[in-house]
Amino acid sequence: MPLPGCFDYRLPPGAPAPARGCRVEVPFGRRTLVGLVHDHQPSELKQLKTVKRVLDEEPVIDPALYALCERAARYYHHPLGEVLNFVLPALLRQGQPARAGGEVRWRLTDRGHHVAPDRLARAPRQLQAMEILAEHPRGLTPAMLEALSVSRPALQALRNKEWVERVEVAETPPPEVDEVRAEPALRANAEQRAAIEAITGAEGFQPFLLDGVTGSGKTEVYLQAMAPVLAAGKQVLVLVPEIGLTPQTLRRFRQRFAVPVTVLHSGLTDRERLDAWVAAREGHARILIGTRSAVFTPLARPGLIIVDEAHDASLKQQDGFRYHARDLASWRAQQLAVPVVHGSATPALETLQLARDGRYHWLRLRQRAGGAGAPPIELLDARDATPDRPLLPTALKAISETLGRGEQALVFLNRRGFAPVILCRDCGWQDECPRCDSLMTWHRSEHQLRCHHCGHQHRVPQRCGQCGSTNLTDAGAGTEKLESLLAEHGDAPVVRIDRDTTRRKGSLDAKLAQIQKGEPAVLVGTQMLAKGHHFPRLSLAVIMNMDAGFLSADFRGPEQAAQLLLQVAGRSGRQDRPGRVLMQSRHGDHNLVRLAAAGDYHALADALLAERRAAALPPFGHLALLRCEAMAMGQALAFLEECATQLPEVEGAHVLGPVPAPMEKRAGRYRAQLLLQSANRPALHGLLDALMPLARSLPSGRRCRWHLDVDPIDL
Ligand code: ADP
Ligand code: ZN
Ligand code: ZN
Repeated sequence: MPLPGCFDYRLPPGAPAPARGCRVEVPFGRRTLVGLVHDHQPSELKQLKTVKRVLDEEPVIDPALYALCERAARYYHHPLGEVLNFVLPALLRQGQPARAGGEVRWRLTDRGHHVAPDRLARAPRQLQAMEILAEHPRGLTPAMLEALSVSRPALQALRNKEWVERVEVAETPPPEVDEVRAEPALRANAEQRAAIEAITGAEGFQPFLLDGVTGSGKTEVYLQAMAPVLAAGKQVLVLVPEIGLTPQTLRRFRQRFAVPVTVLHSGLTDRERLDAWVAAREGHARILIGTRSAVFTPLARPGLIIVDEAHDASLKQQDGFRYHARDLASWRAQQLAVPVVHGSATPALETLQLARDGRYHWLRLRQRAGGAGAPPIELLDARDATPDRPLLPTALKAISETLGRGEQALVFLNRRGFAPVILCRDCGWQDECPRCDSLMTWHRSEHQLRCHHCGHQHRVPQRCGQCGSTNLTDAGAGTEKLESLLAEHGDAPVVRIDRDTTRRKGSLDAKLAQIQKGEPAVLVGTQMLAKGHHFPRLSLAVIMNMDAGFLSADFRGPEQAAQLLLQVAGRSGRQDRPGRVLMQSRHGDHNLVRLAAAGDYHALADALLAERRAAALPPFGHLALLRCEAMAMGQALAFLEECATQLPEVEGAHVLGPVPAPMEKRAGRYRAQLLLQSANRPALHGLLDALMPLARSLPSGRRCRWHLDVDPIDL
């Protein structure tokens, strides 16, 4: 369990008091740790340990950012220390100086310059490295060396011989630019212009919902709203979903503006992350694009915050510190007194309701910018599909026609693997994960069955696990099966994009590049394909198996299904080219499926909001979930039951449960949950204020793993 609260230390005699947010080195038990100053006050306590060293003159977490962390810690009932720890780049946590690192370069040493080539006759890779370095007296960065295919082990060997050295060259900050615009803006249409004027006209904090159908030119609105902010010397923070951070997105920002663009995402090295943080803090980085944790980037001169694809679930962190970057972006904008734009083609119901209530300024883009109208979604009755023929004849015919016209088609199926289950024809047995309440997915090319929840895998069984029959078969289809069926169906290449085919670094880029070339091809993919990418030659999308989402018991299921469906449909027919979208469904007469297929997200949202209001679910009610897992269901339930019975009554707040979680067993542990609900936030937070110390104090909680999730996105 994390330790909530702070620890007290004495300052070394005569030392000036460091400000809140500065780092100090302190003794802790037998170790020395890096801590952050929270507060100081005179104390009479005698036994305090003394701070060893003050590491910063200026706070590494500035007052505004510190205040955001405090608010988030209170709201999510998460220890402040853990929040700060999460926010600080790793190198700062380790006590490194809060400044940008120099650039690393490899070069020949004086001795290296005088080595005769024949001494390396038996080490051709080392010889090659020496020759390349000899041509570059200023040295080469690791990236340049990689581009020149210089072998790393060879370099190390040469370094050991002291013929090559690795030096750090101080990096100068990028020069100030006078002209921020590199490329002219497009001519905005009337709706875009209205949106741009509203955003650029905002003074101080103002939240906007930019509600524009796919292809309506939201990015163009962002770019034109950013221009005056950048021209005034200020910074723009842009949050994007994990998967939307494509090279294409980046290119659009880099091409438009002649200012430094800094990228923050989970793939950075610790050094790169610190450098980006410092560049933002010192104001050298002018455009910051990052995934959810970028909302905590310090900003020297903030001017505008943009949340792109603001409905995207990846903005909510799902472990540890479970914050929602969408909500934090608005808090941050409020605190920094700058406008914030939430952009989406399918806004979250929470955001939509804020716009309806007039609390967010609602900007709408109803038309596609390029001219081609949004494609209609044609429903195909999937009750005729079979496990061996998951694609209906109409869909196959449409694919052939598309390829025949020299265009590309997409088949969307949000399920990887070959088939989602292996079962016995004689007795109906299904191969289940021994550690989870879930079925094993067949990955045919790897000859494995794999659990997508815990990673457990075993070989494909030869016999039924119940009756011993060898009459086994598979049911349903995953992307791997579609890939092989489509490869048999025609002779255009089939490009499969899912987590299995893109595991290796660079493989996703290679596949995307192949599609960008524009030659006829069929793309098969999961939701990895749904967002961010532009496929100019794609004119058909076939959507499979979205029924489960629309019929889901999870109250967010239909909303998420509709968002995903419209996102995928929006991939088809961009740039003047009318597209076609087919959706295979077994429930074409279901009201929500019909509304989604009609492309009418707002009508669907109205229907869902009415249901949510009736059930006091978000955004009309507020939820928190206390989740618990243990080696036995009884233990998990007992802990939650104790919490429930010992909680004080809070007027207007309700405790529901405990109940077993929708997936009762996962990775060998049993899971249960307690739902806390209220129509009013302060009441809910009053209840949570009582719950957290109680849960921490209960001995039964030590036999479980538990956490609190405020505003959970799955129940
Ligand atoms: P969204 O982000 O809303 O899905 P994009 O910003 O990607 O839409 O724009 C879709 C396409 O329309 C892009 O190719 C973009 O260059 C083009 N576009 C956007 N605005 C305009 C405009 N005002 N005039 C012409 N083309 C535009
Ligand atoms: Zn059997
Ligand atoms: Zn499992």
